[in-house]
Amino acid sequence: EIRVRFAPSPTGYLHIGGVRTALYNYLFAKKNNGKFILRIEDTDQNRFVKGAEEYINEALKWCGLEPDESPEKGGPFAPYKQSQRKDIYKQYVADLLKTDYAYIAFDTPEELEKLRTDYEAQGKVFSYNFEIRNNLNNSLNLSNEIVQQKINSGVPYVIRFKIPPHRTLVLSDIIRGNFSIDTSTLDDKVLVKTDGMPTYHLANIVDDHTMEITHVIRGEEWLPSLALHVLLYEAFGWNAPKFAHLPLILKPEGKGKLSKRDGDKSGFPVFPLAWINEKDGTSSIGYREEGYLPEAFINMLALLGWSPTNDKEILSMKELVQEFDLEKVHKSGARFNPEKAKWFNHEYIVQSNASMLLPHFQKILKEKGIEPYNTKDLRIIELLKERVNFIQEIWKIGSFFWIAPSSYEEKNYKKVIKGETATILSQLYTGLQSVLFSERELHDYIHDYVEKSGLGFGKVMQPLRLALVGELKGPDIPIIMEILGKKESLQRIKNLEL
Ligand code: GLU
Repeated sequence: EIRVRFAPSPTGYLHIGGVRTALYNYLFAKKNNGKFILRIEDTDQNRFVKGAEEYINEALKWCGLEPDESPEKGGPFAPYKQSQRKDIYKQYVADLLKTDYAYIAFDTPEELEKLRTDYEAQGKVFSYNFEIRNNLNNSLNLSNEIVQQKINSGVPYVIRFKIPPHRTLVLSDIIRGNFSIDTSTLDDKVLVKTDGMPTYHLANIVDDHTMEITHVIRGEEWLPSLALHVLLYEAFGWNAPKFAHLPLILKPEGKGKLSKRDGDKSGFPVFPLAWINEKDGTSSIGYREEGYLPEAFINMLALLGWSPTNDKEILSMKELVQEFDLEKVHKSGARFNPEKAKWFNHEYIVQSNASMLLPHFQKILKEKGIEPYNTKDLRIIELLKERVNFIQEIWKIGSFFWIAPSSYEEKNYKKVIKGETATILSQLYTGLQSVLFSERELHDYIHDYVEKSGLGFGKVMQPLRLALVGELKGPDIPIIMEILGKKESLQRIKNLEL
């Protein structure tokens, strides 16, 4: 069985790069009838951000990326939160100490800092590695008794991985293919910190193994850790999963990683949901709050770094699952295009049934203090959806359906109101009394009137539009009148005082 995991750290709010990683994991799992697992990697307690875990859960829900196993949902390999798995890591790291793949190091941060500056002074870079480890303050150089004594008397220590040097390690990545690395270039990474908490590297490997993860799909920033991870699997005597490292999402300009600041600067969202960090007062806008449909957001994200063979652009989640191919994920970074994001939303709004958009729209109506009225609201959504990128824009261009114009712009008024306008409107006012208010009948009546009066369209339609809409734009007059109804339409004609 294929098992993949999305393993975010609650050290910040999940941004679109993280959501895309979750999405590709999800698509790969569903395509292969596998399982999509959410694991919270919260071993770094210093960088913990309050609310970040709830944010991850809510964002995944909004996106429709429901995990099969997670801290909330549980599952056969619970717990799914690393802070609750400390005992498991302890047991495994004890194995590594026994087999000499790991050692205990007592070097203080001050000692290490001094080494770093000494090296720097000689124009070299300090690395805690095979060349130097036999000269440092660790269990490789101390007797068992001394080590035990130090531990018993509470001297702080870390546990480091003992990198086997002088080996050419061939690494393979589903997206990037094979490449090799000399293990002598690696340093002895810390596996357990002085507070007894495992580091990301240890916890991640132990969890991926014990949770029977078959494919690790994660961001490119983890590629440099791959060699260490593969060596850890080897040290434990475990088969490593397969790896796929996803390309970066780049700034709209194309250079550099997309960051929160790019969004702040140009006003486009970089996060799925809006957030406020009460601790430092920072905040950001989100796709959900800006009025994006989750389906449009997901579709847009899916194509940042991958495209289906037929180059189709609009794909439902079901189609994405069918088409997705991890091996076809691009190697190079994917440039983010905020305008394209809007385009996707527009396409989804146009394609959606008005009844699907109705709940979103009625929420906006309620905020404006307007009682929802299903049949009318549906009609208006249907009529205006082609013209907008966001549902809230339907209110922006269609609020006149609910609120009669109370003033008219001077320049419009001047443009439209001519000597004969008063007569035209009063004739229409009278004539329309006996017309059935359906689009067809209204259309015929108005056309008849224009023809018979010999005035031409503009002279009749423009003032009529100004009266009904308050502006010189909007959909066809007969439809507007049908939706407004006879009483309201006539009232508005009367309101346009001349
Ligand atoms: N906790 C890591 C992160 O936040 C997970 C990396 C991985 O998937 O291995 O990105």
